[in-house]
Amino acid sequence: MGFEKFGRKSFTGVTKTAKFVDLLTEGKVEGTVCKQCGAKFFPPRADCASCLSKDMDWFEMPKKGKLETFTIAYYAPFGFEKDCPYTMGLVDFGDLKLFARLAKDLKPEDVKVGMDVAIKPLQYEDGQMSFEIAKA
Ligand SMILES: [Zn+2]
Repeated sequence: MGFEKFGRKSFTGVTKTAKFVDLLTEGKVEGTVCKQCGAKFFPPRADCASCLSKDMDWFEMPKKGKLETFTIAYYAPFGFEKDCPYTMGLVDFGDLKLFARLAKDLKPEDVKVGMDVAIKPLQYEDGQMSFEIAKA
């Protein structure tokens, strides 16, 4: 018996989802879907949070979602202070929801509940990859 079942994260989880960063670098935004129960995750998970299966597959995120709600943050965690203020939004993609930051070029006055938005890969100056909510 190894430590595979110990803790909330399996040790294989990191390598399995490392592909996520490669995909982002290629401009692809993909999450994982459980082959057993069909639950979808974005950001991707190596194991299903709903039925605990490790049998996961990749799927491409829908091109469009609806902005369900948003909030403007005037406080940021340590290391992100210079980003303030920034906008966080909750996007409804039908069978999954995502809470993420909105692109800087989306001005607060242009952000409307119900507007069509998309998830786009984001590359920081230091080369680190992330993703953001952008205009669809
Ligand atoms: Zn599942």
